[in-house]
Amino acid sequence: MEQSAKFNCRKCGKEFLVIAQEQAFYKQKGIPMPFACPECRRGRRQGLRNKRKLYARECGKCGVMLESTYPPDSPYTIYCEKCYFAEF
Ligand SMILES: [Zn+2]
Ligand SMILES: [Zn+2]
Repeated sequence: MEQSAKFNCRKCGKEFLVIAQEQAFYKQKGIPMPFACPECRRGRRQGLRNKRKLYARECGKCGVMLESTYPPDSPYTIYCEKCYFAEF
């Protein structure tokens, strides 16, 4: 009888369950069992999204250097926190 199997995540070491249907699916497809827990698998995708490149930009008002996710050639003028809040 097939049961859920426990695996240790290779990334965070946490135990996670792979249900029988999922195991059967992997076996059927001939692909190896997952090596990362669902959180890490999800996290990897999220991580990619979060790991946006930061660009050194100048505040459009006072010229202080800051980091922005907007590249220098983007049409947005960026402001440092101080100037940004001073605007409103
Ligand atoms: Zn994990
Ligand atoms: Zn500023």
